[in-house]
Amino acid sequence: MGKPAFFLDRDGTINVDPGYLRDPSALELLPGVASAIRRARDAGFAIVVVTNQSGVGRGLIPPEVLPQIHERLNELLRQEAGAVVDHYACCLHSPAEQCDCRKPRPKLVFESSAQLGLDLGRSVFVGDRLTDIQTGKNAGCAWTVLVRSGEGRDQEALLGAESQAPFEEGPDHVADDLAGAVDWVLGRQSR
Ligand SMILES: [Mg+2]
Ligand SMILES: [Zn+2]
Repeated sequence: MGKPAFFLDRDGTINVDPGYLRDPSALELLPGVASAIRRARDAGFAIVVVTNQSGVGRGLIPPEVLPQIHERLNELLRQEAGAVVDHYACCLHSPAEQCDCRKPRPKLVFESSAQLGLDLGRSVFVGDRLTDIQTGKNAGCAWTVLVRSGEGRDQEALLGAESQAPFEEGPDHVADDLAGAVDWVLGRQSR
């Protein structure tokens, strides 16, 4: 049986989202994220970042910069808490390209899962947007958690609103931040 995973959105969930981040040195971790990732990994979860980076497709982010940003992210996580990301899965297309990998489509989750040998039925998707929640549901993850960091507070306000029509079901849980999301999932696991 495969390993469970935390599928994590990047901007607004792991790091501050300045909008089309294109400078590795400007990358800033959100508080408590590194130790939360460390705890999740120590508990036996793989860590997979699933991110829409349409700035590449729109010509706003040079494609070669993206690996540099993830290298820097790895460095910050390692320095702060000895935390490790196992895999990055990125959609580089603009919405206009109508690709088959942009969240909320589950393709990047499925590909990562096959590549790393993961068990989606014991995995969780965490993000600051309802499209992240929908991605987790589309992929058949056991749980979805919305975080209030990034755009999460505004997204939470949409829950139950009519404007939220494409997202029929809300997240399984809403946490203040990634640390809260990890606490909630690990708490359920140990029951
Ligand atoms: Mg986000
Ligand atoms: Zn794509």
